[in-house]
Amino acid sequence: MKKITIAIDGHSSSGKSTMAKDLAKTIGYTYIDTGAMYRAVTLYGLQQGLFSGDTLDEERLREEMKNIHISFRPNPETGRPDTLLNGVDVEKDIRGMEVSNHVSPVAALDFVRYELVEQQKKMGRGKGVVMDGRDVGTVIFPDAELKVFITASPEVRARRRLDELQGKGLDVSYEEILENVKKRDFIDSTREVGPLKQAEDAILLDNSNMSLEEQKAWLLEQYEKIMNYEL
Ligand code: C5P
Repeated sequence: MKKITIAIDGHSSSGKSTMAKDLAKTIGYTYIDTGAMYRAVTLYGLQQGLFSGDTLDEERLREEMKNIHISFRPNPETGRPDTLLNGVDVEKDIRGMEVSNHVSPVAALDFVRYELVEQQKKMGRGKGVVMDGRDVGTVIFPDAELKVFITASPEVRARRRLDELQGKGLDVSYEEILENVKKRDFIDSTREVGPLKQAEDAILLDNSNMSLEEQKAWLLEQYEKIMNYEL
């Protein structure tokens, strides 16, 4: 069957990764989490002491980019890919609040974006991918056959993220998460390179009042519609 490219963009913690992963599994496509790559670069910066407080030494990160190698490895237990940073599994580390609190300024840097966008284009070259992020439908794959933009209210998104992190045993507060969600929205939408915005030809979904099952079914339906049209 013909394979297409599926671009899922949207706000932080809108549930887009869960929807994207589920669709990829159902239709046998490769799932690529572009946010994990920005998170891995951020973790590297934290590990190497490139931040003093919230301030990043941009020049040192620019020099270090050649030493940062990000890859994905399927995890049979979770059925989802784990993120590797220079060969080390960092899946858990990149999801914590420390990385979440530092990632948006890193993702706003032009040299970081150019590098990661090139890698993402290569990863999706053969089609048959569901890629989720902020600029997939606008910058990485402007010709994607199916583009979806997902959002929900900041409060709903913070609540979902709280449940997710608490489920992983992390100690965080709702207020801290809500502030992080709002701050990331602002930085992501106002940066100069590859800002978070809905592509003109993307289908908008506000899933604030939808169950997980409804969201998954909705996305599968969009895929089936496109495939009927493409065939
Ligand atoms: O998707 P996730 O919330 O894990 O992404 C983490 C951060 O990475 C986002 O807040 C955003 O700053 C950045 N990002 C980006 N472009 C992408 C994916 C993520 O700028 N394509």
